[in-house]
Amino acid sequence: MSRPAQARIHLDHIVANYQLACSLHPAGQALAVVKADAYGHGVVRVAQALAPYAPAFAVACIEEALELRAAGLTQPVLLLEGFFSNDELPVIAEQNFWTAIHRPDQISAVAETCFSRPLNIWLKVDTGMHRLGFALEEVAGACQQLLALPQVGRVTLMTHFANADCLVAPGVDVSTQLAGLAAARQGLDLDISVANSAALMAHPAARQQWQRPGIMLYGSSPLAFPDEVAQQLQPAMSLVSEVIATRWVPIGESVGYGSRFVANKPTLVGTVAMGYADGYPRQAREGTPLMVNGQRTRLLGRVSMDMLTVDLTEVAAAALGNPVEFWGLQLDANEVAACCDTISYHLFTGITRRVPRLYLTR
Ligand SMILES: *Cc1c(COP(=O)(O)O)cnc(C)c1O
Repeated sequence: MSRPAQARIHLDHIVANYQLACSLHPAGQALAVVKADAYGHGVVRVAQALAPYAPAFAVACIEEALELRAAGLTQPVLLLEGFFSNDELPVIAEQNFWTAIHRPDQISAVAETCFSRPLNIWLKVDTGMHRLGFALEEVAGACQQLLALPQVGRVTLMTHFANADCLVAPGVDVSTQLAGLAAARQGLDLDISVANSAALMAHPAARQQWQRPGIMLYGSSPLAFPDEVAQQLQPAMSLVSEVIATRWVPIGESVGYGSRFVANKPTLVGTVAMGYADGYPRQAREGTPLMVNGQRTRLLGRVSMDMLTVDLTEVAAAALGNPVEFWGLQLDANEVAACCDTISYHLFTGITRRVPRLYLTR
């Protein structure tokens, strides 16, 4: 009937992962981070599944937040990257979005705007990531300015870690960043939010009023080391397809573009409907693992736009129509990502429009 490439999205797993995130710090609350189309899982369905549990969502920009409103979701939505132009501000207040502020001139923009209701602001503090935010010594002044404005409701301090995912930080570590924030917050009675998934999972000191779990909701661990919480995550995306052709390739013959794979023994090659135009990375190395009939085997040759080739020689009952899983319930996306010099975030967000999402609730 149709091309078998599909991303199966296990909404019940996303809910379970969100509940696991919350259970790590019941005294606080967790924004559900659903930016980038819920990391490629489909933001509307994911947000609808989380809506009974999540007090608020977080996205990158106003366009993503408006998509949630268009779908009928009523929770506050935090704009993690703030606003890009000042004309977004009235809409932000009207729609009950919360916005990050990361530059001094954005405070002036707020001061010069009339709002239909008080604006909740998340002041971004640069504690060592050096991407966005106020320097530590600017924080007190910025907060004073904001809190003096009638336009402003609550102010929350937020920072982001550079190395929460590693056991030994190659640069600035979590405790240094936390100490910086604590110093900047001296004398200010404000809520704070610091934890992404990695910090929430592995750094108890980062568990504060608001957590910001993203990747863990989708069942993939960001941690570069084994972890007890990581073991409890349930993969949310199974990327699947089917074998659409098989052939025996004799010794010395090659497969695919650039003849990267050359058979050193008679090889049963399966051609699968999945390619880089679906988001399966062309960077995948020779031998990248995948599952056929529930059995682990390997990628052969270069990934093409719409197809790729796999080794069926050792696969039991290898035949046309065999189910293939590229990552998901049977194979950790992190393992595939490592064979593509990337991370699971990149794999998930790279799945293109051509791949239909099938939503499962149990
Ligand atoms: C994306 C993002 C998060 C979520 O990070 P994960 O590693 O996916 O948990 C948290 N905070 C900010 C500021 C982000 O941009």
